Amino acid sequence: MIQELQLRILPEEAASEQSLKQVVARETGTSVPHIHTVRVLKRSIDARQRTIYVNVKLRAFIDEEPDKPEFQSVEYKDVSAGKPVVVVGAGPGGLFAALRLIELGLRPIVIERGKNVRERKKDIALISREHKVDEESNYSFGEGGAGAYSDGKLYTRSKKRGSVDKILNVFCQFGASTSILADAHPHIGTDKLPRVIENIREQIIRCGGEVRFETRMDALLIRSGEVVGVETNTGESFLGPVILATGHSARDVYRYLHDRQIPIEAKGIAVGVRLEHPQMLIDQIQYHRKEGRGKYLPAAEYSFVTQAGGRGVYSFCMCPGGFVVPAASGPRQVVVNGMSPSNRGSRWSNSGMVVEVRPEDYPELMKHEEMTVSKDSPLALMAFQERLEELCWLNGGMKQTAPAQRMVDFVNKKNSFDLPESSYTPGLLASPLHFWMPEFVTGRLREGFRYFGKVSRGFLTNDAVMIGVETRTSSPVRILRDKESYQHITLKGLFPCGEGAGYAGGIVSAAIDGERCAEGVAGYYDS
Ligand code: FAD
Repeated sequence: MIQELQLRILPEEAASEQSLKQVVARETGTSVPHIHTVRVLKRSIDARQRTIYVNVKLRAFIDEEPDKPEFQSVEYKDVSAGKPVVVVGAGPGGLFAALRLIELGLRPIVIERGKNVRERKKDIALISREHKVDEESNYSFGEGGAGAYSDGKLYTRSKKRGSVDKILNVFCQFGASTSILADAHPHIGTDKLPRVIENIREQIIRCGGEVRFETRMDALLIRSGEVVGVETNTGESFLGPVILATGHSARDVYRYLHDRQIPIEAKGIAVGVRLEHPQMLIDQIQYHRKEGRGKYLPAAEYSFVTQAGGRGVYSFCMCPGGFVVPAASGPRQVVVNGMSPSNRGSRWSNSGMVVEVRPEDYPELMKHEEMTVSKDSPLALMAFQERLEELCWLNGGMKQTAPAQRMVDFVNKKNSFDLPESSYTPGLLASPLHFWMPEFVTGRLREGFRYFGKVSRGFLTNDAVMIGVETRTSSPVRILRDKESYQHITLKGLFPCGEGAGYAGGIVSAAIDGERCAEGVAGYYDS
């Protein structure tokens, strides 16, 4: 017998399959030995009241075995003889485009400027150890893209439930834990993601596709207004329609397109800082208890949003039990981001605390700066992003040390004379962020922090440290494409894809967009 149950249970009851079996036995009047398997279909934590509950939807197999696996697998066929498609970038957008191309019988040739995901790890370690940023291999560039060394959060605001479920199932097929199918806020963790990415690459190659590392697209091959391939820094040409999934840190790609008058437009972003609290404090606040999360609850999360001065101020990419990481992708930059391992076990919690900025804000944002591009340029917000990252580098001592300030000191416009311990391994340098960051951003952050401190007592504290700067929240540029064919509006055969093109804002949405672009290419080949 298969029975589905919707229950509200205590965290310790939800802790393991064994404890869930006991719950099912109690609820169904069966005894534990009769319960073969319990599958969790949905799980979320309700911490609104003093007693914390876990809401679960369970499928119990009583006196029988499950006849289906926990996830649905896709069958990938041999496409060695399929028509070629060039996929530029091996982030989630590019990798999921490649997998979908294979499903559609097309042969992906993935070219990636960075190294494979294991080699890349060594370069990432050098950023913290030696303050050395390799421009082709860092937190943004390399196999797996910006999502490889991240929190691996897999939730999205996308309303396309079917597409989201498909992506999560594919992640499971390549080695992610099936808990991502059940959790309200699924995440894989930086320790598990590299293996999943390698498995995807191996599948692409097994099917007859190609994956080339340390191969950077330097130019599009254009014949009679149609993109027919790319040229790379290795001196090679790769032929086929092109899915351009280069992410939002490939500024050289935006400049290349702009220099050739290929239509792109400026797009709003959000900028600010990483805010780091002791995880214990966040657990105490969110779970309303002095002892913190205890043995059975996960590291607590938070999410804040408000409006200040006509712009959104909000927490972004929160990483409970995580680390703040140096995410620069070039010289003269300090940029921070966050990641966490699957157990979210670090002593810290961090999130981006950012203010929405729009293209029309450019003159105000650059008030005390030289405007390097015109206010109407599609590259205006990218120029602002670059300048803010440079200012951060200058104020951080011209290495990967990050300028930082205690949270209450920032709100009171006071210098911090010392800083709390932090997970940011290149080190912090006390700095008056309120003074050198644009007032457009700091004024709104101050207002936001005061409000967040009011709605969540204890959140606004000098035990929290702000680390500069968070700028890579989304793409400052949109590469314009047709809504139906997914082709660029003036260049046939070019499929701008994922976050860098302005059509995604995270791992899952980039993956969904990758699938969409692959379908666009199939339509292009059919027409
Ligand atoms: P990217 O992942 O940026 O991939 C683009 C790829 O293209 C890169 O590998 C790059 O090397 C390659 N490339 C660029 N230019 C060229 C060229 N000229 N030739 C060849 N290759 C090129 N999102 C979440 O949803 N959850 C999270 O928990 C999360 N945490 C994050 C943590 C960190 C530290 C960072 C940096 C990002 C995080 N993000 C997270 C954001 C997420 O990683 C991105 O939204 C997502 O990776 C975008 O996918 P993409 O494929 O569009 O682009």
